[in-house]
Amino acid sequence: MLSDAHVKCDECDWILSVKPEEVLDWHNKCCPVCGAIIVNDAEFRAFRVLLAISRFSDWCNRVYKFFTGKEVEMHVTHIDSVKWR
Ligand SMILES: [Zn+2]
Repeated sequence: MLSDAHVKCDECDWILSVKPEEVLDWHNKCCPVCGAIIVNDAEFRAFRVLLAISRFSDWCNRVYKFFTGKEVEMHVTHIDSVKWR
């Protein structure tokens, strides 16, 4: 699952740690420092895909555990590098 996330301004390097679900709330919101858009449409779509992949991997983990009794954890971290490069 997505364990942590942050939103970051491309213009002034303002950054804030948020829960993964909260990233979507920043869609088209302005940077509190310089007023630039924090999460644009392309980033919003990319992040929704990432969130879906994360949920799918959680589901896979549960199925795997059901059949094998073993725990496996897949973590998606550093979503920052996926979203904002
Ligand atoms: Zn800014």
